Amino acid sequence: MIEFRHVSKVYPGGVRALRDVSLKINPGEFVVIVGLSGAGKSTLLRCINRLIEPTEGEILVDGVDVRKLKGAELRRLRSQIGMVFQTFNLVKRSSVIKNVLAGRLAHTPVWRGLLGWFPREDVRLALECLDRVGIADKAWVRADQLSGGQQQRVAIARALAQRPKIILADEPVASLDPPTSHVVMSDLRRINREDGITTIVNLHFIDLALAYADRIIGMRNGQVVFDGPAAGVTEKT
Ligand code: ADP
Ligand code: ADP
Repeated sequence: MIEFRHVSKVYPGGVRALRDVSLKINPGEFVVIVGLSGAGKSTLLRCINRLIEPTEGEILVDGVDVRKLKGAELRRLRSQIGMVFQTFNLVKRSSVIKNVLAGRLAHTPVWRGLLGWFPREDVRLALECLDRVGIADKAWVRADQLSGGQQQRVAIARALAQRPKIILADEPVASLDPPTSHVVMSDLRRINREDGITTIVNLHFIDLALAYADRIIGMRNGQVVFDGPAAGVTEKT
């Protein structure tokens, strides 16, 4: 469970990106946050794993206030949360498998990571995660040789390799064409259903939200202006 209690964020310079946001997200939910650019979606998402520090309020993940976590506890929280970004954030000149295992490199002797050698169980995990998004055959290819859609699926496999409880996807399809956007949204949705990973996706198009979400949260100007089941939303909103 993720809970925001009266969360506000004011950036240095005075932009109020979040204004008294309170909401609860249940385990296993697939929530899409929609809103125009600048509405505060990205700020909201990044407060959950403290890539951004809120100015006021509490954010509870499984009952623990993430604002109070330090050091190892904060690293543990982050290890349980997979992130997917608009621009994929891959190491372009590295192999796909190395990208997928990036989060595990800390546990691998440095020389093995440098050579691109990984323990056999890590390779098996990476191939399994890549297979979940249909690109296991690309494991040994350099990341920058893949299409945008394939790169985003590598990023999803990288998140899966963390065995996360939560996936946060910040505009994951904003750089992709419409057919590829559907492939990526379907992958996220299928993984949510199969593994029960709580998933929050930021989008600026309502049509994709309607097609995939259980629940849609609408944001405008740092506030939640709509929150309800996707089935209850009509195209006009
Ligand atoms: P969205 O994801 O909906 O586009 P953001 O959370 O990125 O919205 O931004 C919300 C508001 O906060 C915008 O006005 C944006 O310009 C501002 N903002 C975002 N990041 C920063 C930052 N690091 N410093 C100052 N203002 C920021
Ligand atoms: P992304 O595509 O990863 O969401 P953005 O273009 O939203 O990236 O933002 C890139 C960086 O610039 C982020 O660290 C964000 O916090 C910061 N940023 C966004 N808007 C502003 C702003 N108005 N003033 C200062 N920094 C900002």
